[in-house]
Amino acid sequence: MSSAPRVLFVTSEIAPWQKTGGLGDISAALPAALASAGADVRILVPAYPALTAAFPEAREIARMAPPAGTLPASRLLAATTATGMPLLLLDCPDFFARLGGPYQSPGRRNWPDNALRFGLLSRVAALLASNDSPLDWRPDILHCNDWPSGLAPAYLHYLYDRRGDAACASVMTIHNLAFQGLFPAQRLVDLGLPEAAFVYDGVEFHGQISFLKAGLQFADRISTVSPTYAQEIQQDELGFGLDGLLRYRSADLRGILNGVEASWNSATDPYLAQRYDARHLAAKVKNRKALAAELGLIEEAAAPLLAIVSRLTEQKGVDLVLAIADQLLDEPPRAQLAVLGNGEAEFETAFRTLAARHPGRVAAVIGFDERLAHRFEAGADIFLMPSRFEPCGLNQMYSLRYGTPPVVRATGGLADTVTDCTAQTLAAGSANGFTFGPPDGASLLAATRRAIDAWHRPKLWRRLQKNGMAADFSWAKAAADYLDVYRAARHRPA
Ligand code: ADP
Repeated sequence: MSSAPRVLFVTSEIAPWQKTGGLGDISAALPAALASAGADVRILVPAYPALTAAFPEAREIARMAPPAGTLPASRLLAATTATGMPLLLLDCPDFFARLGGPYQSPGRRNWPDNALRFGLLSRVAALLASNDSPLDWRPDILHCNDWPSGLAPAYLHYLYDRRGDAACASVMTIHNLAFQGLFPAQRLVDLGLPEAAFVYDGVEFHGQISFLKAGLQFADRISTVSPTYAQEIQQDELGFGLDGLLRYRSADLRGILNGVEASWNSATDPYLAQRYDARHLAAKVKNRKALAAELGLIEEAAAPLLAIVSRLTEQKGVDLVLAIADQLLDEPPRAQLAVLGNGEAEFETAFRTLAARHPGRVAAVIGFDERLAHRFEAGADIFLMPSRFEPCGLNQMYSLRYGTPPVVRATGGLADTVTDCTAQTLAAGSANGFTFGPPDGASLLAATRRAIDAWHRPKLWRRLQKNGMAADFSWAKAAADYLDVYRAARHRPA
């Protein structure tokens, strides 16, 4: 076995072409970092319209007959990104050539055939890891990500001889345990899995098929996206019913913090009104002015601008912000608020209503806008991220890098990246934001007020900003840890 592994990285999202959240970002950044560290990585991703449009030169390299069950025939198209990453596009127009998101229709309903769509992705991933592969290139590691590729390790287990025709090791990464890919038991036959797979130590989960559980059951190693989240998912509260299995597999489970892409750099960011770095923080204020103008906020120099960039869902704790918004806006110490997000209709409406009630002091941009997200990070004074749970979280890391100290709930990756501002942490030089514990409005309000008070003390605030901007969230560091996990997976007992 060579030390630089061949890795098939399987994903249902890849930025910038198809992305609903962090998984899309990671699927672009981690393979590139692994390649820089010497690994031979190919990315297997469905040929969504955005990808076929972005790579018109993609050429067919394999045709695959329908596997067992009712899964259809498909093709593999090969393309290479501008940065040199090889893509394997899984082409099956009936399944993937649809407008809308990877999992949902434009009307935001889950596609009714998601079990088959991502069953096919998983099945083809397992095929490419086996001696039946139509390609010459054979991976040492099959790296699966979240439920859409969770069934791949189960296919390897049930359909292949792991010491013979599919010796490839597998790694399952959990980006969010809340999404599990649960489907009716009847799909087992369609998916071409044997009846014997529908057992508690197989793919069965409370009478249904769970794609994620299948991956956690059969992958040689498991990882998740922060050390604290790796602990939390082994407990009842954040285990989503899988904590028992994760405790059982505890020795094989590791938390690796995501990195931040190089494009999130305030000194080179092309979307900002004014670029800046830790030595030129005074320039940051130009971004606030520009953002306020762009959003129609009035200039209120004595009030910090609080910002949220988020999926608008309960996970993200946006209801807590709504609960305390009037107090933050009206009672001293006053603040302004800018929100960029989309998600559940009830929250979208609530933020729109809040903005209408506070014209010039609250802006609500309902939608997904990558460039505007950059301007939010640079233009805001304080970032709010009161997530109920947060596997890793990217926005708090962007905030830290942009000198916009975050207020976060101390959970998952937020706890691993944000150090609460106290006399001790200031003295130690580690303070970079504000954290709170209980997921309720009062605790968020108290932490946000501490942040606003600190913002009114410019010298103290500079220290917080500089501490945050000095953090190393490099993907190179994360890639080295993944290579360790791959090594461990390849040394699984026979
Ligand atoms: P999650 O993956 O749970 O949504 P993360 O913080 O890990 O949360 O990643 C969210 C990613 O999506 C970040 O890159 C963030 O900037 C981006 N994002 C979320 N909502 C929006 C939005 N409305 N507009 C632009 N970018 C967004």
